[in-house]
Amino acid sequence: MKILVLNCGSSSVKYQLIDIDKNYPLAKGLVSRIGMSEAVLTHKPHDRPEVKITGEIIDHIVAIEYVISILLSPNHGVIKDKSEIGAVGHRVVHGGEKFPESVLINSEVMVELRNCIELAPLHNPHNIRGINACQKILLNIPQVAVFDTAFHQQMPKHAYIYGLPYILYKKHGIRRYGFHGTSHYYVSRRASELLKKPANEVNIITCHLGNGASMAAVKEGISIDTSMGFTPLEGLLMGTRCGDLDPAVILHVMAREELSLQEANTLLNKHSGMQGISGHSSDMRDIIQEAKEGHANSRLALDIYCYRIKKYIGAYAVAMGGMNALVFTAGIGENSPLIRERCCEGLEFLGIELDEGRNEEAIGVEALISKDKSKVKVFAIPTNEELVIAQETKKVLEVNTFLKDIVKGV
Ligand code: AMP
Repeated sequence: MKILVLNCGSSSVKYQLIDIDKNYPLAKGLVSRIGMSEAVLTHKPHDRPEVKITGEIIDHIVAIEYVISILLSPNHGVIKDKSEIGAVGHRVVHGGEKFPESVLINSEVMVELRNCIELAPLHNPHNIRGINACQKILLNIPQVAVFDTAFHQQMPKHAYIYGLPYILYKKHGIRRYGFHGTSHYYVSRRASELLKKPANEVNIITCHLGNGASMAAVKEGISIDTSMGFTPLEGLLMGTRCGDLDPAVILHVMAREELSLQEANTLLNKHSGMQGISGHSSDMRDIIQEAKEGHANSRLALDIYCYRIKKYIGAYAVAMGGMNALVFTAGIGENSPLIRERCCEGLEFLGIELDEGRNEEAIGVEALISKDKSKVKVFAIPTNEELVIAQETKKVLEVNTFLKDIVKGV
């Protein structure tokens, strides 16, 4: 079966068509600058060179129509008929408590998804726009929602309740949800495979270090704590997000700088993190380069970035009562030996011993990067959220077919 995986953002649609029987992407691509005059569709079939097409793409419906057209195109396509797409799997950022697992989309689910907009106003509306567009274009093809929050839904209450009046949890759902769930799930499962142990016999700390960054404590296969919270703002220092902060700071700054709610939101989400500290860039490659050239605030941004990751490693090792593996993934985790080295520096007392040569060589590939004698194995593992979404989509369809058969008495 071929499954179309979609990740719809405010002005972009990222896609992969995956042959789920072979766990293999037939084509992948990105539509960017949706709604702007010069939108770009970048498409890469698995067996031919990448192509770029520029034009006006006014909304997500047109963007997904373009995606389907190029998947069908005689020159760049990988399928002959739309009906070859067996299902669509959508990345949905927030599923709240309502969706602890992936779900087949129907009208009731759509109502619940709309209810979740309140929890993720920056993300969920675009995911929903993508689902609506597919419903119009792909009519009867089943669609499945796979949630970034789902993997963290088994966290114990003591890890997800904040020190606020409990009524706020009951009334408004204020709690830690956690994000990047499909990534933490994928790399933690891959790590247990590399350890040659079942997932429920190992404790793993996963570090998803991209533009957005989060860590998870995966104890015996279950995420028992994670650094992002009610929104993806909490936790590690990120490209443009502040991460952990005394909540009183924002009240103080809002009063002193006379900021509106919207302005405060933009300050925390878009102008903070490495961007805010360095004053130059949110991109780790730039920060590393500037730090090498002696830029004091870029050095400081790097110091804070790595220090915070180390603090979470310590916290999660304790929360799990010890660990078997530490995993680095996403843009920075997969590609930066320097950051991995700095995050592991001085952690020998925890049993973490990085191998310099292995670490230097592991760029964009799956690799063991700790010494053979290291008690805790350290891995670089490229994440594969699309594959997890496709696998989840297949699983949901199989369960639903099975249930239908039972009802029919087959
Ligand atoms: P992602 O959000 O997973 O695409 O990751 C984006 C981040 O990865 C950006 O901060 C990039 O600067 C960073 N990144 C990509 N390649 C490298 C590299 N070779 N060294 C350091 N950071 C990198």
